[in-house]
Amino acid sequence: MVLSPGLIDVHTHISALGRNWEGYETATMAAAAGGITTLMGMPLNSLPSTTTLDAVEMERDAAASGPLYVDVGLWGGVVPENCHNIKELLESPYIFGLKAFLAPLPPAAGYQAVSPEQLKEAAKVCGPIGKPILVHSELMTEDESVGAVKKAFAKQSPTSYEAHLASRPAKWEQDAVRVVCDASKDCHMHIVHLSDARGCLPIIQACKESPQNTLTVETCPHYLLLDESLIQNGEVLVKCFPPIRDKENRELLWQGLLEGIIDMVASDHSPCEPHMRNMESGDIETAWGGLSGLQYQLQATWTDAKRRNFTPDEMAAWWSERPAILAGLGRKKGQIKPGQQADFCWWDPNHREAPNAYSKEYHRWKGTTYFAKNDSMCGRVLGTWVRGQLVYDGEKDEHVEPAGVMMTC
Ligand SMILES: [Zn+2]
Repeated sequence: MVLSPGLIDVHTHISALGRNWEGYETATMAAAAGGITTLMGMPLNSLPSTTTLDAVEMERDAAASGPLYVDVGLWGGVVPENCHNIKELLESPYIFGLKAFLAPLPPAAGYQAVSPEQLKEAAKVCGPIGKPILVHSELMTEDESVGAVKKAFAKQSPTSYEAHLASRPAKWEQDAVRVVCDASKDCHMHIVHLSDARGCLPIIQACKESPQNTLTVETCPHYLLLDESLIQNGEVLVKCFPPIRDKENRELLWQGLLEGIIDMVASDHSPCEPHMRNMESGDIETAWGGLSGLQYQLQATWTDAKRRNFTPDEMAAWWSERPAILAGLGRKKGQIKPGQQADFCWWDPNHREAPNAYSKEYHRWKGTTYFAKNDSMCGRVLGTWVRGQLVYDGEKDEHVEPAGVMMTC
């Protein structure tokens, strides 16, 4: 058995406001059952998204209205409307840093991308305040984005995974990564959900070698566990942006983790109502993107990590220690040592079974792609403690004390 520092997920879409997608209670229950003791909530897909002080207050009230099983912190959003006076949002004690998109979003997301110039402007303000900017790193115009989907699917079925992959070229990630690296002279920049390793890792490595640079990078379990060769047409649950790429690229992502060019792993748990996934038709072209599976991040990472001879210590670096530092929580969370909060995950690294064989799924909407891919996943959470209080008993599959709080920085 292993006692790890509690996992810290720096990339969760809690989606509490204005949607029926997840919410704080089920998100924190799923987290606790997965050994995660801290969730950092993304500014979307709540409506309104967390880009104003009023919206921060609404998020805080939503979190306060029900039980929280694990600690929660918020990222604020930087968008074209607020990028000229972003200081106001950054000075809120509830905002640990900012999230920006360089890629245009579908209108239903209710969120806008910033231009590279706006991102650099925000970095100049954010850097001196000492908070990071997390960036969705794909760079293209709305027209390019829509045009690429049309072109890729023109002679292919809407269920084609190959077409989805072709509609999001790796070059867009590389172009965005260059912009983020450039802004990292002024601010702690963080690349979220890196998918393209082949082109991006050399750019990132060169940037990290420059003195005093604090750039950090996350990837997600779905890019590490899956690749194009394992995905069938019509598998709508694996649609995400950037897409899950080819097998060789997946190997290079693991290599990036091994070499420390990729610092950490995060879920990008992205729930929505089931009908939006086009489960019946298998239409990938119009399905809502994003993977759901907050509860299974430990298994989704460890199953392949174990096979590749990584250790629980490395898991703790990817999932606890480095994420804590990104969120500015390094003095309180992320390690087991005197002075740190007693956030723990007690787990069995050798247990091999589908997690739904021994625990209920606690997300608002059930259904994750991970089981379909792996009827035996490795690692079982036996207990989760937040600041010394047992919040989840894994042997009984029961939640105990909702000991989480909305954190301030
Ligand atoms: Zn996300």
